[in-house]
Amino acid sequence: MKKVIILGSTGSIGKSAIDVIKSNPGNFKITALSAHSNEEELLKQAKVFNVKNLALTGTPPVDKSITYYSPKGLLDMIADTDADIVVNGVAGSDGLMPSVVSLKSGKNLALANKETIVMAGSLIANIAAQSNKKIIPVDSEHSAIFQLLQGKKKEDIDEIIITASGGAFRDLPAAELKNVKLEDAVKHPNWSMGTKITIDSSSMANKGLEVIEAYQLFNLPLSKIKVLIHPQSMVHSLIRTTEGSLYAQISKPDMRVPIQNALTWPELGPSLFGRLDLSGVTLTFQAPDFEKYRMLKLAYKAAELGQGSCIAYNAANEIAVDAFVNGKIDFLGIPYIAEHTIEKLGFKGIDTIEDIVEADKKTRTFVKEILGKV
Ligand code: NDP
Ligand code: MG
Repeated sequence: MKKVIILGSTGSIGKSAIDVIKSNPGNFKITALSAHSNEEELLKQAKVFNVKNLALTGTPPVDKSITYYSPKGLLDMIADTDADIVVNGVAGSDGLMPSVVSLKSGKNLALANKETIVMAGSLIANIAAQSNKKIIPVDSEHSAIFQLLQGKKKEDIDEIIITASGGAFRDLPAAELKNVKLEDAVKHPNWSMGTKITIDSSSMANKGLEVIEAYQLFNLPLSKIKVLIHPQSMVHSLIRTTEGSLYAQISKPDMRVPIQNALTWPELGPSLFGRLDLSGVTLTFQAPDFEKYRMLKLAYKAAELGQGSCIAYNAANEIAVDAFVNGKIDFLGIPYIAEHTIEKLGFKGIDTIEDIVEADKKTRTFVKEILGKV
């Protein structure tokens, strides 16, 4: 039986991970769970799966059975708990340190928290290598590419193509983006996810983060990482081999599939979440409009500029999205702030986790200053 820690168990990824474990009885044992402030749901989950190690990072726990509290407590819990694999479904940059500690304490990492890869790039890959542990991507596109690359030689890969739903504003003319409201931006056409990532889908900052994520994970030149809008969200990504063939991973848009694939890796599990029948299905693709989706264009620029700019891209976007959610800026304020931040801030020599945390902090201070002037 594989022992599993689920971080962010009360969120969209966390609940899907719990569902995967429930659907595979006898194969997995949950040894620890964490939430930020949803204590009630955390306790409910702990009771159902008889989990003793619980952490709450945001608010002090009322129930005394939650023995780990605060971000530091979460890291202690990960290090103290026996597990084969950690599902990191924490939202945002606070997912970085839990990823680091998971690998350093000898656990494989089923990684949904894309911020870990965007912010730490080769550093986290080195930590995994030094710990002799594996990072298995959960983000559906990267999970697809990870599966497609199995058994292929790196020199045989011509390019990877990340698919994108195009988000809530896919069919909206670029000129109308200035008028969109929060309630429009949180409506995703195909996936049900947390608020932040859904807004990121609308701006295609999510795809931008995923371009950087793919760049860091798969070690290919940026020019070999492409994006294609695919409104049906059934082809989760493709690879092209050097002789021109395209290979695609196709399944229903359901995060339980990549989560299960990460948990059962290197084996494949049973088909539990609905087989996709392609008869009568139309799959379409179109190139993204980089002038409409400025956050996508900016991600390529950040990746080219280097690690510091990727950290700034992520942090500026996080603060800007928060400002948008709180009604302080309009939708196009998000790319405006991110572009301005990348242009003004340059970070050299990001060599350690401390350097990353520092660059992240500096970016947030910078963006909050801009917002103060708005
Ligand atoms: P949610 O907002 O639904 O859930 C986030 C989880 O993390 C909750 O359990 C939340 O606890 C906890 N959390 C929130 N803030 C913190 C913090 N500062 N420190 C520790 N824990 C925290 O997010 P999603 O599940 O949508 O996304 C999680 C990650 O997975 C993100 O990085 C996202 O980009 C990535 N991802 C998500 C996909 C999806 O389908 N949702 C697809 C691909 C990637 P509480 O409930 O108490 O607030
Ligand atoms: Mg994705």
